[in-house]
Amino acid sequence: MEISPAHIWRNKHYRYRFEVNVCPKCGRAFRENVERCPKCGERTTRVRLPLNGKLLSWTKIVQVPDGYEDFAPMYVGLVELEDGNRVIAKLVDVLEEPKEGQEVEAVLRRIRVDGQSGLIEYALCFRPS
Ligand SMILES: [Zn+2]
Repeated sequence: MEISPAHIWRNKHYRYRFEVNVCPKCGRAFRENVERCPKCGERTTRVRLPLNGKLLSWTKIVQVPDGYEDFAPMYVGLVELEDGNRVIAKLVDVLEEPKEGQEVEAVLRRIRVDGQSGLIEYALCFRPS
C-alpha cells in the first residue's frame, strides 16, 4: 500500500488535530474538509473532538498490511469520546492487553513509513491515560 499525500491532505484536520466538519442542520460529522454538508448543503462548522474517551472494544491485528510491518502486532480500538462520538483508531503504548472500559487519550504518532517514497504518515492514536 502506497501512502497517498492527497488522501492525507484531505483528512489533515482530522488526522492531525482531530477536527471534524459538522453540519448545523442534520448534525452529521465529516472527517473530510467539506465546506458544505453533502446532504443538506448547509455550511459546516469545524469542531475539535475531545481527546479523552473510554475504550469500548478492541482487536489485535497480527497480519498487518505492507508498510506496517514495524508496527505489528497492531491494536485497533473503538473509543467513545467524552462527547459521545465514537471513533475507530489505532491503540499505542499497549503494554498489556487493553481492557474494555479503560480510559484512553489521543496522541499524535507515526503510524507508517513508505519504503519507496520515504513518506512518513502520522495520525492520532489512543493510549491508556
Ligand atoms: Zn446536513
